Amino acid sequence: MRAPPYRWPDGKRSALCFTADVDAEAPYLWTHRAGLPRHLALLEQRRFGPREGLWRILDMLDRLEIRGTFFTPSVVAELHPQILPALVERGHEVGLHGHLHEIVAETTQTEFEEALDRSLAVFEAQTKARPAGFRSPAWELTPGMIDALKVRAIAYDSSLSGFDHPYEIDGLVEIPVQWQIDDAVFFRFFGGGVDKWPPARAADVGEAWIEEFEAGRAYGQLLMITIHPWISGRAQRVAMLERVLAHVAARDDVWIATAGEIARWHVESGNAGIYAVESGLDAPAAAIAASPVTRRSAR
Ligand SMILES: [Zn+2]
Repeated sequence: MRAPPYRWPDGKRSALCFTADVDAEAPYLWTHRAGLPRHLALLEQRRFGPREGLWRILDMLDRLEIRGTFFTPSVVAELHPQILPALVERGHEVGLHGHLHEIVAETTQTEFEEALDRSLAVFEAQTKARPAGFRSPAWELTPGMIDALKVRAIAYDSSLSGFDHPYEIDGLVEIPVQWQIDDAVFFRFFGGGVDKWPPARAADVGEAWIEEFEAGRAYGQLLMITIHPWISGRAQRVAMLERVLAHVAARDDVWIATAGEIARWHVESGNAGIYAVESGLDAPAAAIAASPVTRRSAR
C-alpha cells in the first residue's frame, strides 16, 4: 500500500540538503591500490578539489548562509588534515565515505568493516567527535554493510534511492540520494579519449535541477544535491550551484538542513516507522529460481 505524504517541520512543503562527496584523490588511489603510476594528470585534476574547489564551494555556501554535509574518505582527511577541522569550524556536518573510497563490489565484508573503523578513528582524532552519518563510495550498499553501520551506532546512511524522502531500511535511517541531482553524471571528464561525451553546460544542468525542485515540491521531495569539489569547484559550476541554491532559498516553504539534521527529524517526528522497508533480497532471489526461463538457461 502507498505510504502517506512525508511531513516536514513547521509545515514546510519540501526540503533541500546540500551534500558534497569530498573524494579528491581517493577513488584514483583505490583504482591504483596495487601500485601508483608515475602519471600526474588525473591526480592533479582531483587535487584541484582540496586545493581550490572546496574553498570556492564553502565561500559560496557562506554567501547563502547554507550549511551542508561533506562525506569525506578518511584517506583524504589524512592527506589534507586541514579539511575536516575547517568544515566543522565553518558550521558544516562531516560524514563518513570509506577510507580509500572502497568500491563495494570489490570489497569483502571484513574489508568494509576495517575501512569503516579506520575512518571512524580518523574522524574522531581530527574533529574530536563521532560522525553521525555514512555515505558509501559510488552509492552501493549490502545488507551486511547496513548491519555493520547499525552495530557501530551510525545514525543514518545516505547511499540509496528507494524513496525521495527519508525512510528506514533494515532499521537504519536512509537519507536518500538521486543520480539526476549528482554533478559527476554531467560533468566528470577524464580526457585522454576515455570519455563517452563532453561535459554538460552547467547552466543547462542548473535549469534541470531547478525544474526538479519545483516539480518535487508537490510530492514533499527531499532535493538531495550531491557535488564533488574537484568537479563542481570549477568556475561556471560554482556559479550554477549558487543560482540553484539561491532559487530554492528564496522560497519560504522549503526546509534547508544538513543530512544529520534531517535524520534526527525523521527519528523524532511522526515519520519514523511509516516508511520502514526491508532490504528484502530473498523474495526476488526466489522469483528468479522459480522462473522457467532462468531455470532452463542455468542448466
Ligand atoms: Zn565518492
